Order: sequence, then C-alpha cells, then structure tokens
Amino acid sequence: MAKDRLAEVLEEWEAVIGLEIHTELTATNTKMFCGCPVEFGGEPNTRVCPVCLGLPGALPVPNEVAIELTVLAGLATECEIAPRSQFHRKQYFYPDMPKDYQISQYDLPFCQGGHIDVEMGEGDDSYTAHVGITRIHLEEDTGKMVHVGGAEGRLAGATHSLVDFNRAGTPLIELVTEPDIRTPEVARRFARKLRTTWLTLGISDCNMEEGSLRVDANVSVRRRGETELGTKAEVKNMNSFKALHDALAFEIVRQVEEIERGGRVVQETRHWDAGAKRTSALRSKEEAHDYRYFPEPDMAPFEFSQEYVECVREKLPELPDAKKARFATDYALPSHDATVLANDIEMAAFFEEAVAAAGVERSKLVSNWMLGELSALLNAEGIAVGESRVTPAMIAEIVELVEGGTISSKQAKEVFAEMAESGDAPGAIVELQGMKQVSDTGELETIVERILEANPDEVARYREGKKGLMGFFVGQVMKETRGQANPQVVNDLLARKLEG
Ligand code: ADP
Ligand code: ZN
Ligand code: MG
Repeated sequence: MAKDRLAEVLEEWEAVIGLEIHTELTATNTKMFCGCPVEFGGEPNTRVCPVCLGLPGALPVPNEVAIELTVLAGLATECEIAPRSQFHRKQYFYPDMPKDYQISQYDLPFCQGGHIDVEMGEGDDSYTAHVGITRIHLEEDTGKMVHVGGAEGRLAGATHSLVDFNRAGTPLIELVTEPDIRTPEVARRFARKLRTTWLTLGISDCNMEEGSLRVDANVSVRRRGETELGTKAEVKNMNSFKALHDALAFEIVRQVEEIERGGRVVQETRHWDAGAKRTSALRSKEEAHDYRYFPEPDMAPFEFSQEYVECVREKLPELPDAKKARFATDYALPSHDATVLANDIEMAAFFEEAVAAAGVERSKLVSNWMLGELSALLNAEGIAVGESRVTPAMIAEIVELVEGGTISSKQAKEVFAEMAESGDAPGAIVELQGMKQVSDTGELETIVERILEANPDEVARYREGKKGLMGFFVGQVMKETRGQANPQVVNDLLARKLEG
C-alpha cells in the first residue's frame, strides 16, 4: 500500500491504536507452574509433565523467578507494583490447553499504570509520544497447534491438526497499552523500545519469528476533532516490526475507506497476510467470550512487601532512556543520534565498541556511519546489525582512514559497500584497489596548473565573477586523478591560483 495514501487519510482522520504484547519469559529456564524446561523447538511433547499437560489432580507451584521478572518488567516501565495480587482461572475450550482454562490474572495483576515515552521525528519536527501502560500480568502460554494439509499451517483447508505441548506452561507476560498510539510509526517505535527494554532486563530472548515476543494491535479510526472512540478491530499475526507497521497502515486505510463508502467497521479479529500485504477477517468478536474468571483455588494470593519491591528495583540495569542521556553527555551526540542508538540494544553495543576503537572524539563520525550507510544497508537487507558482515572495528577503521586523509568521503562510501559485501577490512580494500587519496600538495599543484592552462576561457570568466565555475575546475582535477585527490587540498589550491 502506498505510504502517501496513509498520510492522505490521516489529514482528516485520526487513528487510535492500543497494543497487547505477549512475551515469553525465556530467561526463567523452567515453566510457570512446573519444573519442565523452557526452550524453543525440540521433539514435540518431550518437555511435558502432568502439570503442564493439565492432568487431573496435578497441582501448580508458582515460579518465583518468573514473578520477580514480571515485577522487574513493571518497574522498568514505571508501573505501580500491586501490594496484593493473585492468579485467576480464565475458562475456555481450546485444544492446546487441556485443562480448559488458562491460569492468568484478572482484576489484580502484578503491575499497573506505567508508561513509555517514544521519541518521534527529528530536529524541529521532533515530539515525544507518551504511551500509557494499562497493566502487565503474568500467565501461562498454551501449547501449539500444527495444522496439516492447509495453506501456511492455517486451520482453513487443513485435513487434520496436531498439538505440541512443549510450549504449554511457559511463563508469559502480557502488557496492555492504553489507546494512546496515533500512528503506525509510533507503534513500531514503541514495540522496538519495549523489546530493547526487555532485552536489557534479560527477561526474554524476544524472538519475534519464534514467537517469544508477539504483538497484537487494536485499531480504530475517528474523524479529527472527534473525542469518542470508534469501533476497533484487532490485528494478529505480525511477526516483525515492519509487519506491525505495515499491517496498521493497511488497516487504518481500510477502515477509513469502509466508513467513507457508507459502511462500518466491524469488531473482529483480523489476520495480517505479509505476502498479500493485507488484513482479512479471522473471527468475529461480536459475542464477547465469557471467560468466567474466578480466583485460582490451588494458589494463595500474593502480598509484595515494600522491601521486596525495592530489592527487585536494585536489580534494574541501565534502561534506554538513561542510556540515551549518557550517550548525549559522554559522546556529545545530538538527541536524535543518541535516541536511535540507545533504543536498539545491538546498535548501542556496536556503537560503544566502535567508539572505543576509534576514540571518543570521533563519536559523531561513528554515529553518522551507523545512522547513515549502515542502517540503510540493514534496512535494505532486512537484517539486524549482528547478522551483518560489518563490525565495530571496520567502522572505526573507515572513520580513521577518512580523518587521516588517506581516502576521501566519497571513496569511503565505496569502501563501505565493498566491506559490507566481502567482509574485508577497509584498510585492505584501500590497499588492494590502490584507492589512496592524493593529498600531496606538490603533486596536485602540477595537475591544477595544467588544468588552468588548458581552460583559459573558464579562468577568465571565473575572474570576472562567475564563481560557480569552481565546481568545474574541481571536477576536472578529480577526473584527472580518478577521484583520488583530496577535495579540500584541491579547493585550497584552486582558490589560491585563481584569486591570486
Ligand atoms: P477488550 O475488552 O476488547 O479486550 P480492552 O478495553 O481490554 O478491549 O482493550 C484492549 C486493547 O485495545 C487495549 O490495548 C486498548 O488500549 C485498546 N483499545 C480499546 N479500545 C480501543 C479503540 N476503540 N480503538 C483502538 N484501540 C482500543
Ligand atoms: Zn511440566
Ligand atoms: Mg481486555
């Protein structure tokens, strides 16, 4: 879908978005209410026991580590930690949940009322989007259905279905945001920053493709100026940040077009099809489920003392906002650079490593390469920085080659492209391609003089005031030196000869 169409639609309409984010607490090692290991994959139904299979009579024992990690997540997102909380049973029939209820939390979740600030835009257009966090609660994950015979493992068209309980009982936190998000880009940045926060806390591997971080989006639209909320649809099945962004952009336009056509938005769950780039109705939410929540009778309620909460708070590491502030101060980075780097855990680590090699005084140059060339490369290839061939040492080296005058910035871009492709060190590429920049004044002076002699008309016109011809002379010198002349030296020489 064209990006401009979204911008067009958002002139008259406002989107309202709330996210529901499930994260498996993979750092716990064991399941929520039993001692089975938490690990992705494995031979189906090999990491199970009577508790996570939901066999009659099996008793749940809450995982203390999972509870502590939930409290940690709440503190990291400015939530209040409830002094009193408990688990509830949420009843529904689902084949991957043989107890026919999920142990979850209802009106007494562990964490409530937090927020995350999301930095948007750049320079004069920058603003902070304040996203409220309604709650974070702890529950158990379900097993996994595998549908055989249909398209893409979906139920539609399947001939039979299998169930794997390895995932059943994995500790899962659900974070619900207030409907505070207004654009797909805010949603994407919120989710990224949240993922970085969870990774920094070390509570989960947050692997979206393996499903340890799952983002569902609720979205509605209303005319600008309207204060009432429109009917929302829930979008599922987005397994990357790009998918989240694109699904929301599609859904907003779809809803607006539906209303403008005289129709209405139906409250339903929709499925994002990344291949077809569209959402489609999965199931109607017309009749809301009656989960018949009631307090889990096999577990006592929890009472968290102030000392316990403070003890967990002590364990908070440096979070993205604090890191951003430190980057701005210690490395003298502009706010935009500091934000982008600090909000991505891998980029932040890469940056600090590169600066350690290049020297603190070159921080901004390192940042320029990372936000420019490197980010463009990662976007184009759809990979994370850790998956790229480019290393912090390479960025440091390329910065040094330019700073030391060995190569020009233009040559540096070629070196970058080459090292991203081959994984060779910048110095080796420069050597191999004989790319050295010519900064030697004597050598360049001879060339400059030759060019001025060969173009007497241009020289005369320049001296009569056509200063724009400077570009022409520089170009001639560059041609002569096959782009290897140091542009600063060339400019200085030309200015001296022409003015003098
Ligand atoms: P439900 O009862 O359908 O689960 P909730 O009120 O619990 O709905 O909200 C679920 C999520 O949907 C939250 O993230 C909330 O911010 C968001 N949300 C609620 N109403 C709307 C709306 N009209 N438009 C967009 N998002 C909404
Ligand atoms: Zn088990
Ligand atoms: Mg709800």
